[in-house]
Amino acid sequence: MAAIGFVGLGNMGGPMVRNLLKAGHGVTVFDVVANKLDASVRDGAARAASAAAAAANAEIVVTMLPAGQHVRDVYTGASGLIGAARKGALFIDCSTIDVERARAVAAAAESAGFAMLDAPVSGGVAGAEAATLTFMAGGSEAAFARAEQVLRCMGKTVVHAGPSGAGQAAKICNNMILGISMIAVGEAFALAEKLGLDAAKLFEISSKSSGQCWALTTYCPEPGLVPTAPSNRDYKPGFTAAMMLKDLRLAQQAAAGVGAATPLGAEASALYALFCNAGNAELDFSGIIRMLKGR
Ligand code: NAD
Repeated sequence: MAAIGFVGLGNMGGPMVRNLLKAGHGVTVFDVVANKLDASVRDGAARAASAAAAAANAEIVVTMLPAGQHVRDVYTGASGLIGAARKGALFIDCSTIDVERARAVAAAAESAGFAMLDAPVSGGVAGAEAATLTFMAGGSEAAFARAEQVLRCMGKTVVHAGPSGAGQAAKICNNMILGISMIAVGEAFALAEKLGLDAAKLFEISSKSSGQCWALTTYCPEPGLVPTAPSNRDYKPGFTAAMMLKDLRLAQQAAAGVGAATPLGAEASALYALFCNAGNAELDFSGIIRMLKGR
């Protein structure tokens, strides 16, 4: 069993720590918000007074932070993880951040003698709670081999996507597919309604035809068709529209950096910005169907 330091105990990090503890790992935790820290300590983790203290005796340090600037500060800032971890420690950042910064932080870690993986996740809070997350990891083969068993305590699918940054690249490409396809499904139900086509009939046909996709059959934005979908709980998340917008913007930033043409990704990003700015940022992202229907 490994000695693990864990920094960032929010909606995702909290349940991920619980699953590491359940698997028998010793976990030392830190979060800047006291009640998040208290909750993980109640779950059985050891309390640290800073990120550096959480890393000091750890073989593996996992971070699950909001965005790129937090990851940069926690690793490379004054009293950051890179200066505090013990020799030979492995860093795993599970936050969703931009590819460029993920590579820069990993390069800083490596030049200080540490291996690092970017290992963002898919599966949301439910996946974090049930230990069914998908991890997509970027970094060396050797670092991935060291991380795999620990990641499997928190997830069902663990994929080595390629070298440093490949995990973040996989995450934003996947979520660009999802953002675009959710809008496509929403538009189809909006059009069906105007044409007088019963939503249940569209679902019956498209779920078995070439329009079939995850956004339709697993996470249908039209209520009453897929019982587990957030559309049946008034679009309570799930995965918030704000998170989808964050990931679509990361995809656009990456596309601009390498000159990739992603016109539908750009449109999806603009539509999610409109939806969020209209006061819907904390609704599930599938709620965009309401805007598409003009509600
Ligand atoms: P969150 O805001 O609930 O949790 C982040 C935690 O980090 C907070 O508890 C915050 O206090 C803590 N934190 C911030 N700065 C810190 C610092 N300097 N030191 C220590 N702790 C610090 O966010 P979340 O929903 O848990 O998401 C975390 C990451 O996972 C994000 O990058 C997000 O994009 C990604 N993600 C989230 C979901 C989801 O459904 N929530 C799904 C996939 C990926």
